[in-house]
Amino acid sequence: MQKILVSACLLGDPVRYNGKAKTADHFWLKMWHKEGRIVSICPELEGGLPVPRPPAEIVEGFAGCVIDGSAEVETECGQNVTKPFLAGAKKALQLCQRYDIQIAILTEGSPSCGSSKVYDGSFSGRKIAGQGVTSAFLERHGVKVFSQFQCEEAHQCLSRIEQQLMSVTL
Ligand code: SF4
Repeated sequence: MQKILVSACLLGDPVRYNGKAKTADHFWLKMWHKEGRIVSICPELEGGLPVPRPPAEIVEGFAGCVIDGSAEVETECGQNVTKPFLAGAKKALQLCQRYDIQIAILTEGSPSCGSSKVYDGSFSGRKIAGQGVTSAFLERHGVKVFSQFQCEEAHQCLSRIEQQLMSVTL
């Protein structure tokens, strides 16, 4: 049975920068939980950051640039938190490799977990198209990343993957 990586805050863990969760109440998340498919991670905690912590944003670049070393993740006060963000992304990939995970549901908008939108680095609340560092890192390694608003698409993708695997083993 294929497992799915899910952001810990979507599962109700109070691990966000502000000490709160961002619980997602979706049919497929509940079903995957019942089926024992869910592997949970908070990349920022796994990277060594505490709860609560100052909010951080990707500055002067995109997540891919952070991975390649040409952009940074910083707090509003200018503290550089690139290393823990990258360390968390690597831990997420290690989990995917350990459990052969091909699909992740990660929290939209986060500088780690966002899959289509992130804050623009100005700490003004403005969002732009882009990914978080963990999402970009996982996608570079072949993991399909969906937001919590795309559980249905993730379910369809999961079904296709499992059908392909079954046809290979038959
Ligand atoms: S890093 Fe991801 S899992 Fe952790 S609090 Fe932020 S959005 Fe949630």
